Amino acid sequence: METLKVRIGNKLVIGEPGHIVVQTMCNTHTYDVDATVEQCKAMAAAGAELIRITVPGMKDVPCIREIKERLRSDGIDTPLVADIHFSSETAMAVAGIVEKVRINPGNFHPDHEVARARFQELLGICKQHGTAIRIGLNHGSLGKYITELYGNTPLAMAKAAMEWLQMCIDNDFLQVVVSLKSSNTVVMVEAYQILHSLMEESGVLFPMHLGVTEAGNGDSGRIKSCVGIATLLEEGIGNTIRVSLTEDPVAEIPVARYLAERYSGREITMPASRERVILDAACSYGPDLLMRRRDSLSLNTGLGAEFDRYLEDEIMQASRRRFYKPEYIACPGCGRTMYNLQDAFEKVKARTSHLKGMVIAVMGCIVNGPGEMADADWGYVGEGNGKVSIYKKNVPVLRHIPEDDAPDKLLELIESQQ
Ligand code: SF4
Repeated sequence: METLKVRIGNKLVIGEPGHIVVQTMCNTHTYDVDATVEQCKAMAAAGAELIRITVPGMKDVPCIREIKERLRSDGIDTPLVADIHFSSETAMAVAGIVEKVRINPGNFHPDHEVARARFQELLGICKQHGTAIRIGLNHGSLGKYITELYGNTPLAMAKAAMEWLQMCIDNDFLQVVVSLKSSNTVVMVEAYQILHSLMEESGVLFPMHLGVTEAGNGDSGRIKSCVGIATLLEEGIGNTIRVSLTEDPVAEIPVARYLAERYSGREITMPASRERVILDAACSYGPDLLMRRRDSLSLNTGLGAEFDRYLEDEIMQASRRRFYKPEYIACPGCGRTMYNLQDAFEKVKARTSHLKGMVIAVMGCIVNGPGEMADADWGYVGEGNGKVSIYKKNVPVLRHIPEDDAPDKLLELIESQQ
């Protein structure tokens, strides 16, 4: 079945056969217009075809307008996506400014019926301005109404998406892209596969935005992203991708370009390098491991036996077949981030690297972080003002800990409860 084509601004189309659109997201504060404009320019120069910027509330709306105006006057025409959580009012205010609005229906409004009414209103505004929408659901932040029906499952994610997509169809609004992200590669793949089947059954196939959310950083983040995204692209599912890394977002682009080139049959432009070896191996073997078409892995990359065993362990863990270290969930950070996330993540890893199999989340903000760390045994969340909260599962157990003490406090708490 043919995928719908969604126009983002004047030039970009998501859903074109043979074109996987590469996108990323700023991690600057949106109110810091200078820093955000600079980061957008760096992203565009690196090859980002679409750039997302968080718009936390109404006070940030003039900032995103200014960011767009400055980029356009400097000759950068990369379309912008406003990322909205918790504020339907803000979604409606930016819909006339940016080329695309991302909403998370799970937190569009706490009351489901009000959320539906507001979403319908948003569709009208987007239609008027030619603005596209992404319905972006995350495993950790499904609405209560849907988890009561289906649990916190891939099926629940797909069913929730179908409800909002059906509203778009009913309102004759088809400029829609959909995503169902999870930090768990198996959950993420299954959710997209179910949604793809449900959309085919319904007769309307919206383009899909793929990503493994909160994938972490370094080799692990790259491998986890490749395993999840490659499994779907191999099946012909996915039209735009974001590789989420807890790093400078410009570093995401080469990985995303590699995936886009590899799975659209284009020549891969990434030069031979350690990173290329890692991505090649993750994409060549991860999908078969994740889909249980193979059970083991024996690599010979030419970079030494120690590296080969390390890479095998990483790919096995990313495919969720064997855990050799803790499973880290770390958000990439965005304009809501309340502390030095990259630094905090490294400190937490240094204290907890011996806790094999434990799931530890390091999240950038107290507003969205706790809701997004679905599978975590422990959560480490930036509060702002130099303070951190520690969560056990989804329950806060220590609040307002000074950042310098928090990694030790986390380890003390974990050890006291083992
Ligand atoms: S959890 Fe991280 S990526 Fe998500 S809104 Fe908060 S800071 Fe941004």
